[in-house]
Amino acid sequence: MPKPLIGITAYTRHWPTTGWRYDVCYGENATAIEQAGGLPVLIPSQTSADNLRQLYERLDGVLLPGGGDINPAQYGTQPDATLYSVDDSRDRVELAMARWAVADDVPVFGICRGIQVMNVALGGTLVQDIPSQVETSLRHSIAVPGDEARSTLLHDVQIEQGSRLAQIMGSTTVTVNSIHHQTIGEVAPALAITARAPDGLIEGVEMPDKHFVLAVQWHPEDLVATDERMQNLFKAFVEAARARMRG
Ligand code: MN
Repeated sequence: MPKPLIGITAYTRHWPTTGWRYDVCYGENATAIEQAGGLPVLIPSQTSADNLRQLYERLDGVLLPGGGDINPAQYGTQPDATLYSVDDSRDRVELAMARWAVADDVPVFGICRGIQVMNVALGGTLVQDIPSQVETSLRHSIAVPGDEARSTLLHDVQIEQGSRLAQIMGSTTVTVNSIHHQTIGEVAPALAITARAPDGLIEGVEMPDKHFVLAVQWHPEDLVATDERMQNLFKAFVEAARARMRG
């Protein structure tokens, strides 16, 4: 039986020594999709607009993974000094795919930068830098680059009872990893907040009236081996894509 095809957006990296251009994506995302029963396929960040739409139309689901900052121009703000790793091609690809997926009710799963992309795509804004702009005693990022594993659990998350997220996870409290210096500011009107850290920062959003439009601020792809609830997130996403595939 054919498996659901899950597009994972890549980003542009220039190799430090040669300057050669590569399309890359953090590998645990594709592995988690495969383990959940899906077929992962990378979407190059510099795909032309016409081809992007064609590619999108063949997908059963869209995974928006972690990465650098979205260009603040996308939510009408000037960049501050902390901005890093902006990739306008990736912004263009991901914002388009997020909007198409929401419009068509195609399953879309946002992770870390992905929750921010979904918020910006639907009209929300971001806080550009937590350490300099938010008062919190929590750590929302491991030292990057550093000695801490990406799976290091940094803070609790309280999940909204009755949300799709709580239903999939089977619990309303979870301790998560965290590798972000930005966070949702104004929430897009279409998104329901489903999870928060104890300091109030938003860690989960979804659209309750869609089959699977859901995003989290942490990195479940790094926790699938140690927390079954994280596996369940990928499984629920792939199953939603499979359901859509059957029409
Ligand atoms: Mn966090």
